[in-house]
Amino acid sequence: MKKEAEVLDMDNVRILSFGGGVNSVAILVLLAQGKIAPVDVVLFADTGCEMPETYTYIEKIVKPFCKTNNIKFATTKNQEETLLEHCQRLNLIPSRQQRWCTDKWKKRVIRKYLLTNYPDATKIVQLIGYAHGEERRADNCKAENPQYPLIELKITRRKCKNIIRSAGLPVPVKSGCFLCPQKQVKEWIRLYREHPNLYSVCEQLELSSRCNPTLYLNFPKVGTLGNLRRRLEAGKKLPKLPKSVQTALFCSLGFCEVYLEENHMEYAHFDSSKLLPLLEVSV
Ligand code: SF4
Repeated sequence: MKKEAEVLDMDNVRILSFGGGVNSVAILVLLAQGKIAPVDVVLFADTGCEMPETYTYIEKIVKPFCKTNNIKFATTKNQEETLLEHCQRLNLIPSRQQRWCTDKWKKRVIRKYLLTNYPDATKIVQLIGYAHGEERRADNCKAENPQYPLIELKITRRKCKNIIRSAGLPVPVKSGCFLCPQKQVKEWIRLYREHPNLYSVCEQLELSSRCNPTLYLNFPKVGTLGNLRRRLEAGKKLPKLPKSVQTALFCSLGFCEVYLEENHMEYAHFDSSKLLPLLEVSV
């Protein structure tokens, strides 16, 4: 942890934006080893829809590790509703393009936590876990005062796993919401096999969605989550699928909003309820 005098220096607060995935856990280990300058808090923005393995990992591994190493860990969340409750209430599923989910359940709750806990801070540095090899994403990052310790130290994602193992910790699963539309088909299949109850929540969301019902998978050869489930139940082979253009990795950093593809609509401050009229037109 920072020395007392440094902690009191509210002009320059440092946080680790923590998503519970491989990259952010590797940074946590490097912090504990003193290989990265200390942070004031390791901050986890909980959408309420993270993978069950991520919650377990945080409780059983991350929190005890932080306690042992005198690192402050905090969780922050949208107090009004979880991302799932929001989707169910408005018959929506998160959008690949207009990432209002990240804005409202990650970015804004992080900002609110910082304003509440560090009201006098004039500069807040956010450590973001892009690994070496992901420089393009860092170039697109819209966070204020970001730092990329893994890029600076030339640490790849593979090396992150070694860092975690060599600290005696298990490697976490890929993090991100179970209902994330950025998942590849193979990840949907894994969700179906390992968490059928969560898969059926997503299937139901998709069915009641005001969006095009194939929006979740977005692969014409597979169709809906219901189609995928029926194929799996019948033991049918899946058609050869294109690799998804995106993965849920960005949210494993607790900072998925920073990954903007060209031509994607700016979604900072995007209000998902305003999406409804647009969707109704397209139905
Ligand atoms: S993991 Fe996916 S669903 Fe969750 S906030 Fe990020 S983009 Fe949205």
